[in-house]
Parts: sequence; structure tokens; C-alpha cells
Amino acid sequence: MYTSDWHIHSSASYDAQLPVPELIKTAAEIGVTRFGITDHANFPIPSFFANLEESKRLHDKYGFEGFYLGVELTTIPRTMYEHCIKTGRRDTYTSTNVVDNYDLEFMLTMDDLERFGMSYTVAAAHSAWHTDVSKTNEFIIEWHRHHMYIANDERVDILGHPWWFDKPQFAVWLSDFSVIPVSMHDELACALKENGVCIEANAGMLYGDKYPEKFYKQYCEYMRYMFEKGVKVTFGSDCHGPLYADHRLEVEKALGAVGFKSEDFIIPRFRR
Ligand SMILES: [Zn+2]
Ligand SMILES: [Zn+2]
Repeated sequence: MYTSDWHIHSSASYDAQLPVPELIKTAAEIGVTRFGITDHANFPIPSFFANLEESKRLHDKYGFEGFYLGVELTTIPRTMYEHCIKTGRRDTYTSTNVVDNYDLEFMLTMDDLERFGMSYTVAAAHSAWHTDVSKTNEFIIEWHRHHMYIANDERVDILGHPWWFDKPQFAVWLSDFSVIPVSMHDELACALKENGVCIEANAGMLYGDKYPEKFYKQYCEYMRYMFEKGVKVTFGSDCHGPLYADHRLEVEKALGAVGFKSEDFIIPRFRR
């Protein structure tokens, strides 16, 4: 079903244990011929820069045709970005004076991406920051705002795992995806298409036992909807190790059911 994977975390990521040699070996065995490591770039503080240096070192050490260096950016409040740059610390940031609709930012600038030699980027929303997530409508609007920021930023090549959130008790769409207005999908599709940003079919959102069966079905249909709107789709396993997991059969079952074929998955644009 897929022969490329554009969202993988190596052992250089603060939260992952996948050795690059293990990744390369297994990818060859299961026929994933083009892929990239995308370790987390969350906050502009020394530890995250050090992780990315390590990510780059590992990529360059084992580099070969078809193996790329990417990064996973995440949306953070601009006030937090500025605090981190100024102090070198994330833990001393407080959000007491932040107003509604705070500006968003990413850890890395265009110059940083160039300096690290990143071939492409995945960007995703991971935290709702100053939003009261118990207010469902506000939360949906806020999450959509993050997606729109991502879709419209020149640093982004792939929108990672749209609508993922780690606390399903607040993210009500993870039980019934139809609570999200179709107009949001349309607006997002327009921006992604216009800017040449791909949408990611993230393995963890397509099948499994974390969410209700109904959600997975709706989410696969959503992927197809975006694809038919003209948005380019990439596959991302979002593997964190310690082994490189094989999702081919399940992805084929889940996305094949809504009409996807292997050739519908593309490779992102490359910056270098
Ligand atoms: Zn992520
Ligand atoms: Zn990830």
C-alpha cells in the first residue's frame, strides 16, 4: 500500500527509541524505499537544538539515496517562543498574560532549516496551550486555527496527523468525527492545495484500538475527501521505535476501503 514513510522518530528524539540502523534494515525488508526521520522540534531551547544536531549526525552517518532528513515542527504560542529564545528555558514560561487568539510560531526559522539541511518538514498541532479544551466548540475552532497556520506557513511541507489530540475525553471528534464542520475541511483543503502542502495519512489515526471503530472509518473517509479535493497525501507511520513497525496490511485495509491505491501516496516536495 505504501512504499514511502515521511514521519519517523529516531533515537535522537527525546521521546523515541528507534535506532537508525534498525530503521534502514527493516525498511529495506518491507519495501519502504523512500523515507525520512522527523525528530521533534518543539521549543527553541538548547536541548532541542542538541537533539536535532544528533538527528542530523545520524542521518549523515547512515545516509543513502532514498533516506532523508526532515523534522517535526509543532505550533507553540509566540510568547513562549520569545521566552525560550530570551532565557534558553521552557519551564519558566507562564501564560498568565496571554490573550485569546495568541499568535503561533514554530521552533525553527527558515535559516535554521537551511542550516540543518532539512530536506522537508512535517508540522502538527500537539497542545492547545491557552485554550479551555472543555469548551468543545472553542477547542474545535482553535485546533482548526492551528491547522490553518500550519497550512499557510512557508516552513511546512506536510501537515502531520490532522485532528490528533492526546486526550480523547476533550477531543470529542475522536469519537464522532462529524462534529467538525465540513467547511473547515474545505478551508483547510484550499490552503493546503494552494501552498503545495501535503496532508499526512498517519498510521495511528487510520486503524487500531485507541479510538472507536466508527472514528477510524470516518477519518479514512476524511482522508479520501481531502484527496478528492486535490490535496496531496503522504504516508507517515509516526514510528517511535524501538522497532520499525510494519503497517502495510492494516493501512491497505483501512484506506483501500475508501478507494486509496498505492500510487495515491506521494513524496513531499524537497527543500534541498
Ligand atoms: Zn506529532
Ligand atoms: Zn511524530
